[in-house]
Amino acid sequence: MKLFRYGPPGAERPGIVAPDGSRRDLSGLIGDLSGAALHPDRLHALGQTDLLALPAVPEGARLGPCVAGVRNFIAVGLNYADHAAESGMPLPDEPVLFNKAPSCIVGPNDDLELPRGSTRTDWEVELAVVIGRDAYRADLTTARAAIAGYCVCHDVSERDYQMERSGQWMKGKGCPTFGPLGPYLVTPEEIADVQALDLWLDVNGERMQTGHTSSMVFGVMELVAYASQFMRLEAGDVITTGTPPGVGLGRTPPRYLKAGDIVELGISGLGAQSQRVVAGP
Ligand code: ZN
Repeated sequence: MKLFRYGPPGAERPGIVAPDGSRRDLSGLIGDLSGAALHPDRLHALGQTDLLALPAVPEGARLGPCVAGVRNFIAVGLNYADHAAESGMPLPDEPVLFNKAPSCIVGPNDDLELPRGSTRTDWEVELAVVIGRDAYRADLTTARAAIAGYCVCHDVSERDYQMERSGQWMKGKGCPTFGPLGPYLVTPEEIADVQALDLWLDVNGERMQTGHTSSMVFGVMELVAYASQFMRLEAGDVITTGTPPGVGLGRTPPRYLKAGDIVELGISGLGAQSQRVVAGP
């Protein structure tokens, strides 16, 4: 199943792609794509309903982030060996976890706002996992069972804030609009092998990142199980699993986003995002 949210920011409604490809409104069946509604059993039940009998979603409706009510937005650093190398960082012995502020989450095609004064805002295409049932100290099997689905995440990053302002990376990772999620929350049965997906990112039509989830240092299930050793993961939490090489920081000379740029990114089977870069407040 491909699920999504649509409508104005803060007033999105849940939707689903029907078998004929049409987009249908789910708000008669669930309140939103959040919390208990993300339980894998409940999502499975949605797929059993007559989707073509549901109201159609208006053409051209804005897409919101594909999950609501995110309480923990966890990111993984240096999870592709070639990206760690371009960043000049050693490969970690255990997954590097850091936080993105949940308030940075926006729709997949919303404007990307450069923080005022920012000179080093960078791009990172990533595969994100959405948790559908609570998990604490999960093993690989319970980690798999806890997953509601997958989506594209743009882990937008301000490198000065991240690396030159002391302390944790979170300073450069949670600015408003730094977390586009979507277009779709894709349930696991649609993804034959989550470690066999292509990732790509273009800036102004020029290919910057090309990657494959088979190159992850720590695999998706391992990351979910690992994170759950340190906290209770809850339905609606998002874990974004690291970026492949090709970020602006790793280029010679480095290249960063500026107002007017268009960033497009996607993952096979999960859809694509497109953002216009604008000067933020
Ligand atoms: Zn990242």
